[in-house]
Amino acid sequence: MLDTPGFVEITPTADIRVARHGNRAKCLQRLIRMDLPVPQTVALSFDTVRGIAEGHLPDLATLIALFEGQPKLLSVRSSSEAADWGGPNAVLNIGMNDRAHAWLSNTLGEKAADRIYLRFIRSFAIEVMRLDEEAFAEAETPAIARDVYEAEIDAPFPQAIADQLAAVLRSMARAWEGTSARLLRQAQGAPADAGLGLVVQRMAQGMGPGQSGAGVVQFVDPATGDPQVTGRYMGQSMGREALRRREKAIYLTRDPRGASLQEMLPEVYTELLEIGARCRERLREEMQVEFTIDQGRLAVLDAVRCPREARASVAIATALARDGIIPRAEALLRVAPGTLSHLLHRQIDPAAERRVIARGVAASPGAAAGRIVFDSAAAQAALARDEPCILVRRETTPDDVRGMHAADAVLTERGGSTSHAAMIARGLGLPCVTGATGLTISYRNRQVRLPDGSTLTEGDVITVDGSSGQVLSGKVATNEPALDGAFGDLMAWSDAVRDIGVRANADTVADATLSRTFGVDGIGLCRTEHMFFDEGRLTVMREMIFAETGPDRAAALERLLPMQRADFTELFGLMSGLPVCIRLLDPPLHEFLPSGPEGVQALAEALDRPLSEVRARIDAMQEYNPMLGMRGVRLGIALPEIYEMQARAIFEATVAAQAAGHDVHPEIMIPLVTAHREVELVKRRIDGVAGAVRDESGTDFRYDVGVMVETPRAALRAGEIAETSAFLSFGTNDLTQMTYGLSRDDAGRFMSAYVNEGVYPEDPFGTLDIDGVGELLLLGASRGRKARPDIVLGLCGEHGGQADSIAFCRLAGFDYVSCSPFRVPVAKLAAAQATLMASKHAAAHKPKA
Ligand code: PEP
Ligand code: MG
Repeated sequence: MLDTPGFVEITPTADIRVARHGNRAKCLQRLIRMDLPVPQTVALSFDTVRGIAEGHLPDLATLIALFEGQPKLLSVRSSSEAADWGGPNAVLNIGMNDRAHAWLSNTLGEKAADRIYLRFIRSFAIEVMRLDEEAFAEAETPAIARDVYEAEIDAPFPQAIADQLAAVLRSMARAWEGTSARLLRQAQGAPADAGLGLVVQRMAQGMGPGQSGAGVVQFVDPATGDPQVTGRYMGQSMGREALRRREKAIYLTRDPRGASLQEMLPEVYTELLEIGARCRERLREEMQVEFTIDQGRLAVLDAVRCPREARASVAIATALARDGIIPRAEALLRVAPGTLSHLLHRQIDPAAERRVIARGVAASPGAAAGRIVFDSAAAQAALARDEPCILVRRETTPDDVRGMHAADAVLTERGGSTSHAAMIARGLGLPCVTGATGLTISYRNRQVRLPDGSTLTEGDVITVDGSSGQVLSGKVATNEPALDGAFGDLMAWSDAVRDIGVRANADTVADATLSRTFGVDGIGLCRTEHMFFDEGRLTVMREMIFAETGPDRAAALERLLPMQRADFTELFGLMSGLPVCIRLLDPPLHEFLPSGPEGVQALAEALDRPLSEVRARIDAMQEYNPMLGMRGVRLGIALPEIYEMQARAIFEATVAAQAAGHDVHPEIMIPLVTAHREVELVKRRIDGVAGAVRDESGTDFRYDVGVMVETPRAALRAGEIAETSAFLSFGTNDLTQMTYGLSRDDAGRFMSAYVNEGVYPEDPFGTLDIDGVGELLLLGASRGRKARPDIVLGLCGEHGGQADSIAFCRLAGFDYVSCSPFRVPVAKLAAAQATLMASKHAAAHKPKA
């Protein structure tokens, strides 16, 4: 037995702390302080529960004596520090024995007494003593259930409340220590030594004469967060039975579909509404309230944070702030940045007709229609034709990632919400339905048989709704993302708080338009090569690549120039007033050449050259390690005309956009730099082109030339490079690849083994490797800044949209991060949170005056 009691009755003044007694105990104290009708409750601290698990029970006689009234019936609920760390299930009606049964038979009636006793024996047997549920399936009276119990245990059913309570406490304390419970809560962010508190509460019976029952109420729609009373009530029930047995439950608010609490017990209903409003104001949160009506009297047993979907979490947090209940800063901290990505995707038009042809797991939100393709090659071909497509696979492997990049949605026959397809699709912002059982896919026939026996063939159009898990026939109309007022508020408040810029990686007009909608601070990376993949331009590009003489190359570039100029003019107009960082051509040239025999044949025709010559040229251009070969600035040094053409296109577009009244801030970025001399050579040429365009047009303009730091050497030599660079933008995709010596295109083959074995804590292409790559970022940033204090620092790899990287860049004094347009809202909120957390931290550590 412990020296101190190890428990405390929850009163308005008792010393109850979340870190000692858990979240539920603290919440109950708040309800008690609000004078709500909460039955008498005692809290057991984390230490006490830990002691119980080790066999040291507190003084249960004293604990039980605290409770008044007869018969003494108690419930025990778990109270972990954070609500989502879980905890063992509640046990109700502890203290139920033959005497209590007789008492209740007299007061509540025999039927109610039987139900309460039967329910207790079953839950004691199953939850506490871990007996098989099946053994009790046919036990319909307390007497039979008791016989089953005694036969299974070979001991009498305990009659003393202290014995029952001891067994319940012990079982709950030990369940918390179990491996699976520990893993589950650690997955929710709980520390390894997280404690469990328990609350023991006097039962308010929802069974008995008159109006008795139990229910659950919440005051917002869990999907949208709009004010709306939802929940259920069930007469002659306990706990959350009304939610589990909806067919027997009634509505709370008057409803044409059936009876309601509002009609049956209007005063209780009104009281509930008042409680909801008070909880919202005092607990500063939308709560879900568990209540009991005990012979017409309302009792509030518990209140938990109302469960909510992504959209509702934004709506609730912003509404609380708008109503002055919480500060805006707190609203920002309450929304997990990742939830925003659910709001940002197209959804099926609610008015559209849905013909469901298959169903599966709603694995990644959003909806898209397209033609069925069965492999990556077909998906990429569809992309090249600018034709939306849906990748349909039994399940996906890293080999399918190429296809997923090219597809508009993914559908798999197997898998669940954490399968490969689901995780990759979520990362790409791609709608995905997994585990659509009932599909039979034949890759050979390029067909898929549907659950109804009909067949679809490659090229047929379907719509995948990754928000509902439905697969629909044909092209179904979709609505653009519902970016309502709450979302707008959250973004505006993030902008007001954050102290690091968020730009977008945008290559197309569509990307730039979307980025502007999200209120981006500029374009951080425009990958110009994407502008050449267009069918009409590819041929000219190929002519340029095949040109053997300077004049031939110049002629092809001459044709590419107006195309590039038009692209940039449009981009500058769209981004007027904001910086646009354009990266000069980066990939190896042979990426622009065809690979298959038909493509080579077509190219020979287009170029009017013999097939053998074209083939030989393509072969000659192949490299052993193209990612480490003739790409990036090396192209700029070896074939300077290409970068000159691009620089001219940028400057002429600047002149044109300025003439149209736009405020243009072009930034020209040199990729894959390893040495200062590369920058000097390329910059000199760019400056030369700028001078020529200024003279020709008679117009002045500003521009900056900077470097993409994506090789370890560029990071190490950043001081020197900075002398000739207005900005350094860290390309963490290549920098990760080169720091690890790990191909970003092949890492998928062994990455899961590496992560499973704990070699890497996470895939470094998904989560920035702070220890290694991060050190290069810090080195590069400090060396660059030392050489040139006004240098602008950015990060533009995939990590730019990830909360941890943003916090890291902010701490390292970066000016901005740049990420794909759909990640911009996520990045803005994460940036605001990083700023808020840093100022909280600073305030907490400020030396006291
Ligand atoms: C990078 O390497 O981080 C980068 C942004 O460029 P890309 O992904 O185009 O190589
Ligand atoms: Mg790169």
